[in-house]
Amino acid sequence: MADKGQIVQRVKGVKDILPVDSPVWQWVEDTARETFEGFSYSEIRIPVFERTDVFSRAIGETSDIVEKEMYTFTDRGGESLTLRPEGTASVVRAYVENKLYNPPGAKKLYYMGPMFRAERPQAGRYRQFHQLGAELFGPENPSADAETIHLLMSIFKNLHLEDLTLRINSLGCPQCRPAFRQKLAEYLDSRREALCDNCQRRIDKNPLRVLDCKAHGCGVIADEAPSVTESLCGECSAHFDRTRTLLAAVGVDGKVDPKLVRGLDYYSRTAFEVSSTALGAQDAVAGGGRYNSLVEQFGGPPTPAIGFAIGLERLISLLGNDGAPLGPELFFIALCPEAEEKVFQLAGALREEGYMVDMSYGGGLKSQLKQADRASAELAVIIGEEEMARSVALVKEMKSGEQFTVAFDELIKWLDKHLLGEE
Ligand code: AMP
Repeated sequence: MADKGQIVQRVKGVKDILPVDSPVWQWVEDTARETFEGFSYSEIRIPVFERTDVFSRAIGETSDIVEKEMYTFTDRGGESLTLRPEGTASVVRAYVENKLYNPPGAKKLYYMGPMFRAERPQAGRYRQFHQLGAELFGPENPSADAETIHLLMSIFKNLHLEDLTLRINSLGCPQCRPAFRQKLAEYLDSRREALCDNCQRRIDKNPLRVLDCKAHGCGVIADEAPSVTESLCGECSAHFDRTRTLLAAVGVDGKVDPKLVRGLDYYSRTAFEVSSTALGAQDAVAGGGRYNSLVEQFGGPPTPAIGFAIGLERLISLLGNDGAPLGPELFFIALCPEAEEKVFQLAGALREEGYMVDMSYGGGLKSQLKQADRASAELAVIIGEEEMARSVALVKEMKSGEQFTVAFDELIKWLDKHLLGEE
């Protein structure tokens, strides 16, 4: 614990979202909710921590997340728990545990909230960050893939973010992927020396991951590697083509990238990522894909599924922030104790009417007007001894300085007219 009086700093890699930034966060969340609703999605709120097994089982023991990025701790009962590093595993756990597969049919769920990964902090990479994500359970049809990607791009469009790149790929299925994996591993083995240490280890454990390694040498080798798109079985190939045709029908243009593999183990068939050149090294703003065996792996009935997650910090950094927080519509100023009671009464009634109301907690008229100004209030409502005697309030328009005298029992009606234009 810090010494008394010493400033306590936040943990490395986490951020405070301050009032000046809240309006843009709220706008993004509200816009996403509206878009989700337009696609008939419902919200699910999942716990912030789970049994460690939920993540190691789903994400894969060889993924970066499970190997080195999880915040895992033993609780007082001796159980291993982990702060959620992503949402999909928890949503699948909740889907199975709560039998959301009943009644049968497509189930569309979205979530938003903080995620935790013990990564090396840098611009665009935090240890606590926020995601909003969607999961569609049930349909295996390519229309589900296309609709999910369309939903993702619609969220960006509704946020007026159009300058983004969508890359898509198909990772094949349990029928065609093993042969590709084998072919790829053999190719990589023949170039073993030129790969980074990490990728040399990946050749046997998870050769697909070599394809998206950021090391220069690995990139050159990945460029010449056998292409997963060319190794797809007939069904996977048809699924991929149909997905792209349906996406084209809604004007979504995805670039096929055979090197896009995503970091997690659970994907099959469609995988996609959205990036922006404006983001620098950490350029991915969203990613997702199809995961057809995860529900079964969690003890549920065979249920194909597809989903995505958007990183909110990166998305918001693309939007910039032009909105200072909105000030209150009314700022009440009481100049004597009796007036204070009246202010409480009037402010209470106006808050019930839905007005944004703030008040001063004491001081002279000048200093209280200064507070109203600092709060960016639209109107100051001043009540002193004289006003009390006449049962009126002095309403001052902060910008113009214009003043009005309004009877207490006329105040709501007067404000409805003055601020909202209601007769
Ligand atoms: P992932 O599940 O790793 O593909 O993450 C989905 C999205 O979450 C990424 O495209 C990023 O926008 C965001 N994201 C992932 N990790 C972090 C992090 N450590 N800090 C900030 N954003 C992140």
